[in-house]
Amino acid sequence: MQNNFELLGSDQHSKARRGRLRTAHGVIDTPAFMPVGTQGSVKGVSPRELRELNAQIILGNTYHLFVRPGLDVIKHFGGLHNFMGWDGPILTDSGGYQIFSLAKLRKISEEGVDFQNHIDGGRAFISPEIAMEIQAALGSDIVMVLDECVPYPCEYDYAARSGELTARWAKRCRAVASAASVDFRADALGTAHTTARQLVFGIVQGGTFDDLRRASAQALVQLEFDGYAIGGVSVGEPEEEMMRAVQSAEPFLPKQKPRYAMGLGTPPQLLQMIARGMDMFDCVLPTRLARNGTAFTAAGTLNLKNAEFALDKRPIEESCACHACRQFTRGYIRHLIKAEEILGLRLITMHNLHSYLNLMSQARTEIENGTFDQFRKAFVAEYKTRDAIPIE
Ligand SMILES: [Zn+2]
Repeated sequence: MQNNFELLGSDQHSKARRGRLRTAHGVIDTPAFMPVGTQGSVKGVSPRELRELNAQIILGNTYHLFVRPGLDVIKHFGGLHNFMGWDGPILTDSGGYQIFSLAKLRKISEEGVDFQNHIDGGRAFISPEIAMEIQAALGSDIVMVLDECVPYPCEYDYAARSGELTARWAKRCRAVASAASVDFRADALGTAHTTARQLVFGIVQGGTFDDLRRASAQALVQLEFDGYAIGGVSVGEPEEEMMRAVQSAEPFLPKQKPRYAMGLGTPPQLLQMIARGMDMFDCVLPTRLARNGTAFTAAGTLNLKNAEFALDKRPIEESCACHACRQFTRGYIRHLIKAEEILGLRLITMHNLHSYLNLMSQARTEIENGTFDQFRKAFVAEYKTRDAIPIE
């Protein structure tokens, strides 16, 4: 199978890597941050603004789109790209994480998961094959296998059985993808490129147990996916456990494939993950925290609701080149947030996304220049969380 990932360089003092991933809708430079477009929209931000922020890829949530508006509607509009007006790459998750965190009355069997959705209680069934079919209909560039994400804490025996089930489900997803890929090549005969196929990523599970993480990684690598994700992290475990889960799987993942640490984290955590060999990230923090007035800066978070900013004429962050910082003061943005003006949350959202995307761009440059490790250490030392980040 053609490898769509090119490793352009790596850091001498850590496992940080600089890479490039080709997809049907464009190229992604790694390390990369993917803004989260939960319900077919990155909350408060238009596709044009995402382009201006230099977002190269966004994430869509299969579960949310499946429940509402439903697959028939998205198919009617010709797939998720057309429906939401975004022509860049899209990664969709399999729906597994939300089924296990949001849906009610789940019943897991070898075959798949029965659940009632959290919107209207409607019943649905998703198997590994159905998860792949849904993502094919969405038309995403990168699809994820269906996995079971175990909660934290989780007992060893349950995590072990769950890891084995996830590996069997991954094999079934792989079989669907291989069949689709063969069909596609037959259709594409005579055309220059076959990069239009969907890339499929496997997901390493195994809870907080080193041997289970290793076994999960090894089982997935045998199936030869286009990339590998570390799942079941940032589910409420202490930060050291999160780092360990990645460290115990990483040595068993092939160097020439992209690695994606799912659903995390704060800016220092992203740099720590890059230093541990991770290439791709998605996180709701920049958009979610913006909605309660919290802005990310290199020196930590600012809660712009605080009275101390009422007369502050400085931008959110002096060194920031984003639209919100070039044009507006902290005092004005604080007023907008207090008055519940939509512009306030939009400006903070755009600043926060700029801040995350810019951090990845800086990380890429530092890796190229051989200075990533010093950059990481300095950034982590400088970053202090002024306001505790509320985790839901
Ligand atoms: Zn800014």
